[in-house]
Amino acid sequence: MNRETLTGLLKKGQIILAKAGIRDAGLDAWLLLEYITGKSRAYYFAHGEECVTEENAERYLELISRRAGHIPLQHLTHQAFFMGYEFYVDENVLVPRQDTETLVELGLECMKTLENPHILDMCTGSGCILISLMKELPGAYGKGVDLSKEALNVAMRNARTLEVAERVEFVQSNLFAEVRNTVYGTGDMKENGVKGKTKDIEKVTEHQNNNGNYTEAYDMIVSNPPYIPTAEIEELMDEVKLHDPRMALDGMEDGLYFYRAITEEAQDYLVPGGWLLYEIGCSQGKDVAALLQKEGFENIEIRQDLAGLDRVVLGRKKLQEDEYV
Ligand code: GLN
Repeated sequence: MNRETLTGLLKKGQIILAKAGIRDAGLDAWLLLEYITGKSRAYYFAHGEECVTEENAERYLELISRRAGHIPLQHLTHQAFFMGYEFYVDENVLVPRQDTETLVELGLECMKTLENPHILDMCTGSGCILISLMKELPGAYGKGVDLSKEALNVAMRNARTLEVAERVEFVQSNLFAEVRNTVYGTGDMKENGVKGKTKDIEKVTEHQNNNGNYTEAYDMIVSNPPYIPTAEIEELMDEVKLHDPRMALDGMEDGLYFYRAITEEAQDYLVPGGWLLYEIGCSQGKDVAALLQKEGFENIEIRQDLAGLDRVVLGRKKLQEDEYV
């Protein structure tokens, strides 16, 4: 039987994807070939006539046919690159978007003068935001919150692979509901000797609030919550609509549900002068900024991504609680 060459197989893949209407058919066919064979582009150009093993050819065509069914490339390779780091992803999490790097970069800017910042990531998903912040801020501690246990497993796996597991914990919670109570995956973490660290994190995140009680508080809360209005989800491309978790997309009726809910409670979890940073949909800047304003945040700004679209809203909790004076 004739064995396929690298060139021949790539052509086949490209044609199948193009016929299926995949936007970047050529690139995706190539990336899947690289994933299966482990051959670099330079190698491919020099040895395109080399034969591929039957097993690899079969595996390749199987992935091509799944990609032709609009399964996102990253769900097939389980790799997504974000802030220069490789994250594991699967169908339980939103694939990290490059746009979200704007949020991380601004977060780094806000934290740059603090030696041991404490950061809360609401709706952490794959953990890409929190873990990138931990990588760039070696003295930081973090907590990642998500409603989905499956997503938290992915985040935890990424924290371990990227070697920040000792400085983060993950909590299964409906927004802030369980943030102070439940440490998700403690048992799992115990096996890895991280339990002690979890305690330390809690101790150092305690701050005295206005009533004299000790409470958990953060220097920064970041969030890229679901923000697509329900009715608009149907208009998204198949890769997103059918394969990203619906729960990670749906911002309810007007898309602002999570911004409202998080902003209302955020102050209780921030130190005076603490920051709140959101990723937003490009038409939501004014609305989200108004929510921060209503809750008394200061230094509110709307910032743009590399494409020049509104992408982040940030604000700062008041330094002094002068309203009681
Ligand atoms: N925080 C994750 C990300 O930015 C997940 C966001 C979400 O599920 N809406 O990719």
